[in-house]
Amino acid sequence: MSNTPQQASTNPAALPSAVPFEPVLSRHFGHPQSHTIAYYESHGGYETARAFVGTPAADITQKVKDAGLRGRGGAGFPTGMKWGFLAKNTGKPTYLAVNGDESEPGTFKDRYILELDPHQLVEGVILASYAIGCQHAFIYLRGEFILGFERLCAAVAEARARGYVGPNIFGKGYDLQITIVRGAGAYICGEETGMLSSIEGGRGYPKVKPPFPAVSGLFGCPTIVNNVETICNVTHILKHGPSWFRQWGTEKSPGYKLFCVSGDVVRPGLVEVPLATPLSAIINEHCGGVAGKSIKAVIPGGSSAPLIKGDKVADVTMDYECLAAHKSMLGSGAITVMNETRDIVSAIYNLMRFYHHESCGQCTPCREGTGWLEKLMHKFHHGHGAKQDIDLVWEITRNMQGKTICVLADAAVMPMQSYLSSFPEEFQAKCKG
Ligand code: SF4
Repeated sequence: MSNTPQQASTNPAALPSAVPFEPVLSRHFGHPQSHTIAYYESHGGYETARAFVGTPAADITQKVKDAGLRGRGGAGFPTGMKWGFLAKNTGKPTYLAVNGDESEPGTFKDRYILELDPHQLVEGVILASYAIGCQHAFIYLRGEFILGFERLCAAVAEARARGYVGPNIFGKGYDLQITIVRGAGAYICGEETGMLSSIEGGRGYPKVKPPFPAVSGLFGCPTIVNNVETICNVTHILKHGPSWFRQWGTEKSPGYKLFCVSGDVVRPGLVEVPLATPLSAIINEHCGGVAGKSIKAVIPGGSSAPLIKGDKVADVTMDYECLAAHKSMLGSGAITVMNETRDIVSAIYNLMRFYHHESCGQCTPCREGTGWLEKLMHKFHHGHGAKQDIDLVWEITRNMQGKTICVLADAAVMPMQSYLSSFPEEFQAKCKG
């Protein structure tokens, strides 16, 4: 798959509002030196952190709340509200843990930030850490991100050499250390408590919630977990103000987002557009249209998101509310397009193999359920399904949903049920006899 970054269209007709939009997060991705501190500072880099460190931290949190920034990792929880949940006066340190595991299949937006504009992340980490009273931030990276890891390490070292990370940053009496931790390629380490277990040095086992990380997270201390893209937005919101951010998107889904488009489109890649941009505009105007005769289905938000059938694509805008109304979700913003030739049974068999392999095994419904679903889909994939197997799939998925420590079981159930209910004829056609 080619992941060439696509610059967003400046054609207002393609956008959800009349306010023109130019890329924000991916603005500098095309420059060969965009990862260096010299380039970053020549474009105003670290001026926002310099201006806000030393100001009342509560004002920073309020600005993020006013902007309505929602987490860009998948859950879409309001970022400022999450910061407000931090346990106070515990006598323990407060930590920021930035999730750069990016394990949802089809998602590659954070990798671009890490490789092409790592200082954007470092500045966001400084501001978010200061806002929540954190003096030691952790950035957790997917182990396969070799270039991203190297560039982020170099960026933190450059920032430290300039006095932007370490003791008394900007000479304002605020100390901040940043530690980069690499994972080893487990999907479950993208789940926030699985990631915290991994940072602590243990297996990437998710933990029972509550307590939530904001109360008892990393090493038992209050911890905020935010995604890479979420943290990068903090700098831009503080620099331009909450009203600027709210120019785009909708009341409940304000701002803009990076979308990762793959599958059957002419130009797959990274697209940055306002939230509530029509899905059809992303496919047709930014990615050159469907590669094939027609769209059979679209996964709108990563592999765990239920399908949007081709005849519904024209009704969908890429915001949290519209996708929920279509019984799907925005998720991580990974859009996968399937044309008329795609075999739905083969696609879900592939996904069930993935989820079974990635189950950490702590919960019986997930450990056994994903295995049974894989076995059943293997039967269908090879044309050996039976009509009663379809009933069995429904029963298994009902017994997995909402009954486990983390949402991996649900992440497997949602596409399984969606593929089956959207294309029942394809499963029936794979029944023997
Ligand atoms: Fe592990 Fe699955 Fe349970 Fe999550 S739901 S904790 S991945 S067994």
